Amino acid sequence: MHDDARIETLAVHAGERTPGPEGSVVFPIFQGTVYRSEPGESYHDIKYLRLNSTPSQSYLHDKLAALEGAEAALATSSGMAAITTILHALLGAGDHLLVGDVLYGGTHNLLTQHAQRLGWSYTFVDPHDPSSWAAARQPNTRAFLVETITNPLMRVGELAEVVTFAKAEGLVSVIDNTFASPVNFRPVEAGFDLVFHSATKYLNGHSDLVAGSVAGSAELVDRVRRTLNLYGGSLDPHAGYLLARGLKTLALRVRAQNANAQALAEFLTGHEAVLAVNYPGLPDHPDHAHASRLLSGFGGMLSFRLRGGVDATEAFLEALSLPAVAPSLGGIESLVTRPSLTSHAGMSPADRERAGVHDDLVRFSCGIEHSDDLVEDLGRALAKV
Ligand SMILES: *Cc1c(COP(=O)(O)O)cnc(C)c1O
Repeated sequence: MHDDARIETLAVHAGERTPGPEGSVVFPIFQGTVYRSEPGESYHDIKYLRLNSTPSQSYLHDKLAALEGAEAALATSSGMAAITTILHALLGAGDHLLVGDVLYGGTHNLLTQHAQRLGWSYTFVDPHDPSSWAAARQPNTRAFLVETITNPLMRVGELAEVVTFAKAEGLVSVIDNTFASPVNFRPVEAGFDLVFHSATKYLNGHSDLVAGSVAGSAELVDRVRRTLNLYGGSLDPHAGYLLARGLKTLALRVRAQNANAQALAEFLTGHEAVLAVNYPGLPDHPDHAHASRLLSGFGGMLSFRLRGGVDATEAFLEALSLPAVAPSLGGIESLVTRPSLTSHAGMSPADRERAGVHDDLVRFSCGIEHSDDLVEDLGRALAKV
């Protein structure tokens, strides 16, 4: 494979061993926990599953790093294991974090419920307002954490400015790229120091495992790996095998999901029963201009409100035949949820309204079905409300 291979080719060939063990074209599952050690091996170099150093893990790490355009990558036992381990690697007691004010619920709860006990402080900042960041920076600030596309209004912050600010201030920039996937955005190439994913979502893409990934410079990823080695959130080789298999079709899946989301967003925008549509690929989305510069695709997630309120929304969900009503996202099957009942159920109704997460908001995770079938299914369901 040439160095300038494109992401479709990297997804298939990167990390593959040629020849593979025993000539196998498909890299096998090395289930063993124990390997003969070499004289003088240091603790972190011993081959052991928890130390993230066994053959199936190294294979997966190489594939992930290539997809991210990063020097190094690491798989973790979940997306939450990725973010908790990153924060433990970067922050000590007394350190401070700048963090985007719209976060995945687990990350939000981790900070609000655990940071204080760990001696970490943090300040929420608006990723759309770079002029406000300097005032929030403190002498003990170590890192700046944001998300590429936020849930559930699909906002895209001023990510290029986050990189510039973090570099100027000597902060480690960290981004949760779960909603975009490396097909639509490669943060390391855009200058971010560390990128992580819930690999449970697009990277695996089949809604059948929980995993996470971290990528960045060899030095930073090694820091995170040494922390992970001690905190213990390593990925089991069976799940790792499924994740590597899912990764091979990542580019195909995400392009189909991008196209489906664009088709649905355009269809819904023109529909009389629909009050509002949130999708960064629509020209009237507030972030469309800079999202177009940053991203090579707008993703497979959209959200919308119906004119008829909660009752119409419930009737609409009931009338859909293709998508399952279920939380989570990024799989090959379309899923639909009401965030006020799932991802944002823990917020007070007043906070939800302020955040734009209205009770009638519907979030749609596009699968890889034919877009005409999805449009027709939504059209039939809208006709019933
Ligand atoms: C799901 C998700 C996570 C957490 O990942 P798990 O694999 O469930 O631990 C983190 N960030 C985002 C944006 C997510 O969607």
